[in-house]
Amino acid sequence: MLVVMQHGATAKEIDRVVSVIKEMGYEARPMPGAQRTAVGLVGNDGRVDASRIEALPGVASIIHVTQQYKQVSREWRPENTIVDVAPGFSVGGSDVVIIGGPCSVESEEQIVRAAKIVRDAGATALRGGAFKPRSSPYSFQGLGKEALGYLALAKCETGLPIVTEAMDEEGAHLIAEVADCIQIGARNMQNYSLLKTVGKIGKPVLLKRGMAATINDLLLSAEYIIAAGNPNVILCERGVRSFDPAARNMLDLTAIPIVHRLSHLPIIADPSHGTGLRDKVLPMARAAVAAGADGVIIEVHPEPDRALSDGAQSLYPDQFGALVKELRAVAAAIGREVPPTPWAAAHRNRAVSLG
Ligand code: PEP
Ligand code: MN
Repeated sequence: MLVVMQHGATAKEIDRVVSVIKEMGYEARPMPGAQRTAVGLVGNDGRVDASRIEALPGVASIIHVTQQYKQVSREWRPENTIVDVAPGFSVGGSDVVIIGGPCSVESEEQIVRAAKIVRDAGATALRGGAFKPRSSPYSFQGLGKEALGYLALAKCETGLPIVTEAMDEEGAHLIAEVADCIQIGARNMQNYSLLKTVGKIGKPVLLKRGMAATINDLLLSAEYIIAAGNPNVILCERGVRSFDPAARNMLDLTAIPIVHRLSHLPIIADPSHGTGLRDKVLPMARAAVAAGADGVIIEVHPEPDRALSDGAQSLYPDQFGALVKELRAVAAAIGREVPPTPWAAAHRNRAVSLG
């Protein structure tokens, strides 16, 4: 860390910075320049609280040389992390995974129908919210525990692994019994006690970027999960709030190559929440894969016009089927592959063993 002093900072002010750094247990190296002096902080183990120094008289700014996060960084682990969620569902290698399903689980019939649509389209996993974080307390809040039973049934019927969101610690433990991957939604990205809980549970976590979170904030949240003992973290770009109401959010596809450079963790994209508009989901999903996303998570509903949440951004079943085909082509063009659906893989293995 570098403490840049103001032009004209006095020797007394520089000495004070030096002594505070020493009091904090680090070495201080003043570097006088033609215009101003900088004081280097040596021995930074990534946990320096800069706020104590920032407010001292004569300090102009602080430059962080090392990142605030450690275990999520590429420096810590140069090779990509591959999160093995379930057989046929690995994220971060050459596969481009497709997670599809409705925003919310609405009934047993609806989620089983949705699961069959997702399976038949050739996607990798089923999504569907049991506990829903809705902006209004009067909107459909999800079926809760009841929905977890329906998700388990949909998995049984189709063989698709399950991704579903935990909103609190109690829910996280319940979800862990059913889901293959626990989603932490945008609104909870900085719910640090929940992050620690899913860190301790140890199941793969899909961590969505908060709607006003920087990439640094996202990586620090991932660090919480890893620091609590769970290295199986998949990041997700789901759009950030912008000044422009033309789309629900602004899908920040630049985050994908940036995260890939800064971190070894996989990152997928959510063009459904990222755009909020059904017909914009298709081009942005293709763009996300082209930009290097390790997968996409897409809302699809058997009858979007009747959906209890996010109907406007949910694809019709035939649109989802066409999109999966297109994503296979985009992935192939960049030397990657959408894996065969775990159901197809299971059937192939069965055919081989029978044959
Ligand atoms: C969701 O996946 O349905 C959801 C609520 O997403 P987000 O947390 O990104 O808004
Ligand atoms: Mn949704």
